[in-house]
Amino acid sequence: MRERCWDAMSIFGKYGAPDLFITITANPKWPEITENLRPSEHTTDSPDLLSRDFNLKLKSLMDDPPVHGALEKSIAQVYIIEFQKRGLRQAHILIVLRAADKFSTSEYIVKFVSAEIPSSIENLRLHEIVTKCLMHGPCDIDNPGVPCMEADQCKKMFSKEFQK
Ligand SMILES: [Zn+2]
Repeated sequence: MRERCWDAMSIFGKYGAPDLFITITANPKWPEITENLRPSEHTTDSPDLLSRDFNLKLKSLMDDPPVHGALEKSIAQVYIIEFQKRGLRQAHILIVLRAADKFSTSEYIVKFVSAEIPSSIENLRLHEIVTKCLMHGPCDIDNPGVPCMEADQCKKMFSKEFQK
């Protein structure tokens, strides 16, 4: 592992700092997983199913036009797959773009990066994915059993005001 880490550092030493950092995390609620579990089985009981589905999703992500387009413009790429708690897999992908394709202006970056909740009218599926998978909560007095709640308050200090 240490040698691979130094290999990655050598790659970035030669080609420069990475321009893109992409993360994909296994979701135990993916239908391909839930539909193939036996009635009494939990996702942690079937690491083979989780790994196989994650590998397919990772390959699909790498073949996705925006990512694949970035890979075609890349001069170096490194990724690592790690296991989170409860055995879920996660991949971190670092990509160094060619000099001509680097993110040189804030306007160019804004075309690729967004921290907004997608419109439910323009893209309902993306809105549902973001609000279900990427947002904290719901946690409040009405949901005292969620892991972040302690003494009727969220340990992570949510909810917070939306920022412009
Ligand atoms: Zn919370």
